[in-house]
Amino acid sequence: SSIPKIVILGAGYGGILTAQRLQKALNYNEADVTLVNRHEYHYFTTHLHMPAAGTDSIEHTRVSISKLIDEFKIDLVKSSVQEIRTQQKKVILEDGTLSYDYLVIALGGEPETFGIPGLDKYALTIRSINSVRLIREHIEYQFAKYKNENNAQEHINFVVGGAGFSGIEFVAELADRIPALCKEYDVDPSMVNIYNVEAAPTALPGFAPELVEHAMTVLTKKGVTFKIGVAIKECLPNGVILATGEEIKASTIVWTGGIRGNRLIEAAGFEAMRGRVKVDEYLRVPGHENIFIIGDGSLMINPEGRPYPPTAQIAMQQGECCAFNLVAAIRSQQPKKFAFSNKGTVASLGKGQGIAVVGDKKYRGWTAAQLKKVVDMRYLFIIGGIPLVLKKGRFF
Ligand code: FAD
Ligand code: NAD
Repeated sequence: SSIPKIVILGAGYGGILTAQRLQKALNYNEADVTLVNRHEYHYFTTHLHMPAAGTDSIEHTRVSISKLIDEFKIDLVKSSVQEIRTQQKKVILEDGTLSYDYLVIALGGEPETFGIPGLDKYALTIRSINSVRLIREHIEYQFAKYKNENNAQEHINFVVGGAGFSGIEFVAELADRIPALCKEYDVDPSMVNIYNVEAAPTALPGFAPELVEHAMTVLTKKGVTFKIGVAIKECLPNGVILATGEEIKASTIVWTGGIRGNRLIEAAGFEAMRGRVKVDEYLRVPGHENIFIIGDGSLMINPEGRPYPPTAQIAMQQGECCAFNLVAAIRSQQPKKFAFSNKGTVASLGKGQGIAVVGDKKYRGWTAAQLKKVVDMRYLFIIGGIPLVLKKGRFF
């Protein structure tokens, strides 16, 4: 019989872990594995808020996939997936076609705009290396414009929509960057406004209230203005309209209001909620034993009956489990159920500041900021060992 073909779509947290575990577990000629990704690099989504604000470089945020994968064991294909055809067991790429026996969909998420008018068109989003380059350049350009357009205030007003973890981590970095930008462009720092708008009754909904309060205190001191309990209703070329009718003029709108699964998932005909498929306990699509969905495109319910939040942590653990189950399927062995092991949540609040919950312990300030670095370094170690930690890690 011929060798089974495994195709992995996406080399983010879930896809890289799946590929690395497969290359370790599979014997010679046991399967043909192909990893497809749009770029030749893997990027650290969890770090994107820094290059977006300009407080760290792109090079600390990505690594060449060929450094993480043994190309004698796995075929790397740099291409953009266009369509998944389950009936023909084929994936259509921008420049070719791949057929599979087993498919892993690890394409990540996309910004969810909830149909809010103007957001698609006028707001920037933190989603990839290319999108954060645009944010960084856009911010710098607004400072230059301010000086050339009669000090028009909208150029140095910044609106961040959504105070979830992405919004909070980004406004913290942006606030840290403002003093340097002001110096460079001769702008009075007291003129700059950063608004973080949140529809829910609190920032970081669901997170420990005392840590939320701490985060808001730290960020307010850095110059962030919070608007909590009020939704963005419309986005304009030069501002936003809130549910209260209030308009905030700003030339920069960054949308961090939530994410959904990749649109290719719905287009493939799977039953999905906001682009996410409720996979079975082995991470397979119901009715498709040979198709796995992991990471932001998957929906799993925790023991309390609520969906797990889409995080890098869960995507990595799903990648490991998915690789195990692929090997089991090929060897006609028993697959294992996915069991999430929560290592905690750590969020940065800019330089030297942070909040964290690990088990039932809560941390803030310097300790939490150090924990954030530990989490980042642990990830670098898992995917690339000590050389990658030394190359991409941030020790200070
Ligand atoms: P991704 O890591 O997004 O990978 C998807 C891959 O697929 C990418 O490489 C992409 O280029 C590729 N791809 C997409 N479409 C195509 C296509 N059509 N063709 C080919 N390739 C394609 N989670 C945490 O646990 N901790 C954190 O601290 C944290 N911080 C975050 C900070 C920010 C600013 C953001 C935005 C998210 C953060 N998250 C964090 C969430 C976390 O990043 C995601 O849950 C995680 O990246 C999901 O992993 P994934 O494998 O599903 O997708
Ligand atoms: P999110 O869904 O967690 O937060 C989006 C926020 O935007 C919500 O609080 C929501 O109420 C708000 N919102 C929605 N519509 C709005 C509107 N019209 N106007 C104003 N506010 C609105 O999204 P996220 O922050 O991008 O996070 C996505 C996932 O990534 C989550 O699972 C999160 O836990 C994870 N993440 C984790 C970290 C970390 O652990 N450090 C950092 C970033 C993201």
